[in-house]
Amino acid sequence: MTANLLDFDLEGLAAFCERLGEKRFRATQLFRWIHQRGASEFGQMSDLAKSLREKLATTAHVAGLHVISQHESADGTIKWLFDVGNGDAVEAVFIPEDDRGTLCVSSQAGCAVGCRFCSTGHQGFSRNLTTGEIVAQLWFAEHFLRKHLKRDERVISNVVMMGMGEPLQNYAALVPALRVMLDDHAYGLSRRRVTVSTSGMTRMMDRLGQECPVALAVSLHAANNALRDNLVPLNKKHDLDDLMDSCNRYLQFAPRDFITFEYCMLDGVNDQPEHARELVQLVKNRVSCKINLIPFNPFPASGLTRSPHKQVLAFAKILGDAGIVTTVRKTRGDDIDAACGQLAGDVKDRTRVEKRIAQQRTVMLKQVPALAPGAKET
Ligand code: SAH
Ligand code: SF4
Repeated sequence: MTANLLDFDLEGLAAFCERLGEKRFRATQLFRWIHQRGASEFGQMSDLAKSLREKLATTAHVAGLHVISQHESADGTIKWLFDVGNGDAVEAVFIPEDDRGTLCVSSQAGCAVGCRFCSTGHQGFSRNLTTGEIVAQLWFAEHFLRKHLKRDERVISNVVMMGMGEPLQNYAALVPALRVMLDDHAYGLSRRRVTVSTSGMTRMMDRLGQECPVALAVSLHAANNALRDNLVPLNKKHDLDDLMDSCNRYLQFAPRDFITFEYCMLDGVNDQPEHARELVQLVKNRVSCKINLIPFNPFPASGLTRSPHKQVLAFAKILGDAGIVTTVRKTRGDDIDAACGQLAGDVKDRTRVEKRIAQQRTVMLKQVPALAPGAKET
């Protein structure tokens, strides 16, 4: 088995080079070729000594993910479904805006947290992605988009770990992947523009703050424990008090001076004026935050419906009047099921994932002609 170099942050790659009897700085050159230029063939890497290229050819490879399908929305949002083996698939979504390009990245195949309103949660947990599989989503998307949009310079300026999975339940693979995103020799993203979104794993939030602080979004969805226990089962272990304290500890290290609280608006469940007032009580004078109200993207198995827009605005007004910065998230990519919580579409069980992968592989690969280097067609 040769090493997949997408699995390494710069430190890991330097250690790998040392094991080959090479100077550590060779890793920087290699890292730049792979991440900045999208190279996957060692033969292409013209400034590396021939002897090193030969060593690499027998000990290493650069392997992207297999693309099953690509869908482009009328609003420019692009969603990719990647095969990660054994019938599992994960998705990444590119969201273009005037002043930025955001990639929403997955951290796990499925998710063990099991939130009621989330289609990934309903799928159950399959496995953690490796560092290489997390990085491969960005590597593929960045180099594909440069070609697709005919751009020489960087296309993706922001990454949000808001795809499938709970990133902090895959901490060991996540942190090196974040380091690759942040590294100036790779994607060079600012810490403020890389966001980890968590359902509230407080111990892991503490570790992230100390070891690799990036912007943090916390999926709140309820401001009392009874309701949150029901919507986000993890709350039974890490309750709201614990969560608010952990947010404050995180802020001591965070690159931004606020936490973003995400709140998915569920009709008649958490969207009433009393819920808004409870939310004010919970956070006001306690945690420096912004609140992002997310229109719920319904899927049949949830048994839940989206709050009417009027209700969302009334909720936002109560928060705003209390001095809490509040935004209502625009839904993007609705027409291609790329909006929050719609990732994996209506996939509910493994059998259907497998069937869907088999069907889509045949149909969709024909529609993805310009694969990035290293992403293999099967
Ligand atoms: N597991 C992490 C990150 C992935 S979920 C977390 O929970 O934060 C990313 C965001 O999408 C979360 O805020 C989540 O609450 C939201 N989300 C999940 N399902 C949704 C749905 N059906 N409609 C709208 N937002 C949803
Ligand atoms: Fe997992 Fe996040 Fe979905 Fe909850 S909302 S089930 S934590 S992916």
